[in-house]
Amino acid sequence: MKKIPMTTPLVEMDGDEMTRVLWKWVKDILILPYVDLKTEYYDLSLENRDADGDKVTAAAAEACLRLGVGVKCATITPNAQRVEEFGLRKMWPSPNATIRAIMDGTVFRAPVIVRGITPLVPGWKAPITIARHAYGDVYKGVELAVDGGKATLSCGDESRIVFNFGDKKGILQAIHNTDASIRSFAKSCFNYALDTKTDLWFSTKDTISKIYDHTFKDIFAEIYENEYKEKFEAAGIEYFYTLIDDAVARVMRSEGGFIWALKNYDGDVMSDMVATAFGSLAMMTSVLVSPSGAYEFEAAHGTVTRHFRKHQKGEETSTNSVATLFAWTGALRKRGELDGNAELVDFANRLEKATIDTIEGGEMTKDLAGMFRLDGVTVKPLSSRAFLEAIARRLES
Ligand code: NAP
Ligand code: MG
Repeated sequence: MKKIPMTTPLVEMDGDEMTRVLWKWVKDILILPYVDLKTEYYDLSLENRDADGDKVTAAAAEACLRLGVGVKCATITPNAQRVEEFGLRKMWPSPNATIRAIMDGTVFRAPVIVRGITPLVPGWKAPITIARHAYGDVYKGVELAVDGGKATLSCGDESRIVFNFGDKKGILQAIHNTDASIRSFAKSCFNYALDTKTDLWFSTKDTISKIYDHTFKDIFAEIYENEYKEKFEAAGIEYFYTLIDDAVARVMRSEGGFIWALKNYDGDVMSDMVATAFGSLAMMTSVLVSPSGAYEFEAAHGTVTRHFRKHQKGEETSTNSVATLFAWTGALRKRGELDGNAELVDFANRLEKATIDTIEGGEMTKDLAGMFRLDGVTVKPLSSRAFLEAIARRLES
């Protein structure tokens, strides 16, 4: 069979642990036999980031902006324990935070829905896509542990006392955002809602955070009124702002089927809750969209360290590769769309369908096997590799 040609390369960002193992298998079993794959390769493994002083991460993010589409494997964000484990020179920052800061984009996370996996919230019938602002908040925060004294916040001539610790030990933190980044966040959300013809919700804690959070609310309202209100009305969709507490309560009572825009930290936390409720973190796809229209696809979960420890001991694992695989299909489809490569778009769609059909046919990894119920279908739990081979059989037939 002739392989599908590609013109522009994808930015390929390799990663760590179990997901690095899955990465290679996904490529070997499901992509390389069918696609004449062109990539610009960046090794974002922790060893390589440590060796090159983490320059590789920034270079990969720049490449995403230059080439337009990237696909990233999960990576370790080192903490003190990892510094010791890998003998690191430094506690390198989160690669995702670095990439998000450079691409200044918005992360959209949506669950892959399959028949047989009922959400833990039984009322949820349609996907809830979380739009997470990808800049600022605690990810670019500054923190201090202090032995006492007066903490002041100052910028130019402005300065105010934040807290008087007196002689008490304590901790403090400063976070920031920029109007420009909030504006591109708002625009990405409004555009994505229009593209997908989906209602958009946005929530912050503006009653308590009267400047920080309130600015987000005001910028969204202004851009909506001036640039999107008519387009939303024409598309028959709604923009809805509410306090985050109220939003959480409404989300639980809803049927799903909307985009929920959230600030960086709120989106990080809520996306894990929504992913778990829709079945498994391993079924959550994630795409970072920059205001210039560059895309970075990845799985929402981490490197699945616990499974990797088993793999290292030579034991068989049953790690779900759906999110990693959908990162690849998302990237291939977008590359195909941008290059006018209909064959590549079609391949990405067929590979996604083969994956869903495989699961709905009863073949899946253990994380799903325990919760799968579909009349007339017998569940067959598979190893990490056997699951990918089962998808390949579907794809061939
Ligand atoms: P994790 O890798 O997401 O795994 C947490 C647990 O969730 C796993 O132990 C497993 O549960 C389950 N799980 C996650 N993905 C799965 C999959 N594909 N198939 C089956 N089960 C899956 O989170 P973590 O253990 O907290 O973090 C591990 C490393 O990942 C850390 O070093 C962290 O820095 C990094 N991380 C990276 C990213 C990223 O690159 N985007 C995101 C988050 C975390 P069971 O053990 O119960 O089977
Ligand atoms: Mg998270």
